[in-house]
Amino acid sequence: RIAYVNGRYVPHRTAKVHVEDRGFQFADGVYEVCEVFAGNIVDVTRHLDRLGRSLSELSIDWPVTRAALVAILREVVSRNRVVNGLVYMQVTRGVSKRDFGFPTPSVPSTLVVTSRSASRAAAEKITEEGVRVVTTPDIRWERVDIKSVALLPQVLAKQFARSNGAAEAWMFDKDGYVTEGASSNAWIVTEDGTLVTRPAERGILRGITRAAIMDYAAAHGIKVEERAFTVDEAKHAREAFITAATAIVTPVVQIDETVLGNGVPGSVASALRAHFHDDVELVPLR
Ligand code: PLP
Repeated sequence: RIAYVNGRYVPHRTAKVHVEDRGFQFADGVYEVCEVFAGNIVDVTRHLDRLGRSLSELSIDWPVTRAALVAILREVVSRNRVVNGLVYMQVTRGVSKRDFGFPTPSVPSTLVVTSRSASRAAAEKITEEGVRVVTTPDIRWERVDIKSVALLPQVLAKQFARSNGAAEAWMFDKDGYVTEGASSNAWIVTEDGTLVTRPAERGILRGITRAAIMDYAAAHGIKVEERAFTVDEAKHAREAFITAATAIVTPVVQIDETVLGNGVPGSVASALRAHFHDDVELVPLR
């Protein structure tokens, strides 16, 4: 495997950044993950739009131009022969003597890109069986709209899920409303087939897969309601699912100890999963 680090394609196992990199010292950086599907990078325009927004909210410079970044993503994916999987990019404020304030004068941003294949067996198991989620308080900061590499609350939430035999943790705010998953957006389906997901204005990351599902729903006459829902409402919902670039649409069949419906993936989530790639932007590698 190879990785891209600051202008070089290097063997993945020896790829390194400096100990004084601000990403390492302060989690002073942002990232994006795109799905690679059938040799295409999925929704790269939207992912780079969001990357640009994250960078600008933190006053971090683009490490290379957008067009150059797309070329690097393609190169890393194709050098790793990834057909189905993901491509990861991280940008940090760069390397500078450890000091909380921004470096003056500024230093070049660090750019790292990696890519890996996904397990087809794991994806098929999810399609057939769905996943369980557990709920846990959302202890994150107020700028979760920025896709920052400061992910310690999500690390703890995900580990809480794993140690309880669940695939994902749904975090809830102090009023008991679900915000999102540790690394995914949360959805429920009501009795009449309406998709419900929390508005992106507050408390969540504006997921690219979430946006793609909204477009798909609009194009296919599926009703979407952007409103917050409680853990309790979710437990009584007809279906639930999560969305993320690496999970596409993953049916949820159990929340904490509550089994949804008959405990198998619901028809709405299953159909969204099956048709997800019909309408999305696909950028081929060559
Ligand atoms: N919410 C959080 C906290 C995430 O970390 C992610 C993805 O990693 C998502 C939502 C889903 O976003 P996307 O669909 O853009 O992958």
